[in-house]
Amino acid sequence: MDDDKKRRRVIYDRSNGYCHICRKKVAFTNYGKAGERGSWEIDHSNPRANGGTDRLNNLYPACISCNRSTQHGSTRTERDRYGHTKAPYSRERANEFTENNTWAGAVAGASTGAMVGGACLGSNTKPS
Ligand SMILES: [Zn+2]
Repeated sequence: MDDDKKRRRVIYDRSNGYCHICRKKVAFTNYGKAGERGSWEIDHSNPRANGGTDRLNNLYPACISCNRSTQHGSTRTERDRYGHTKAPYSRERANEFTENNTWAGAVAGASTGAMVGGACLGSNTKPS
């Protein structure tokens, strides 16, 4: 896999393979192939013209028709048309939410405590 493809894969996975605007499923292998089923492009959530960056946290997969239409409005405006305010969650993110809503909160608290304990031990060690 070349770097471009890896980068595309990370972006694609951010929304679990759905257009972040209309939430249609897009096809990873049809990246940039306008007219193909599930074709998509990388969309800048905050457009470069508005100072948006090329960092991953500003990039989402969008089907080509949505991406082309965002030329005229912000991502938020476009998502509003479909009644969404946020991008779809990636599968990992969705799982986190499920776990946090059930029992993992307590476990997370316990492991944070352990980490803090470790940090204290470390800071008590005097440099020689
Ligand atoms: Zn779309």
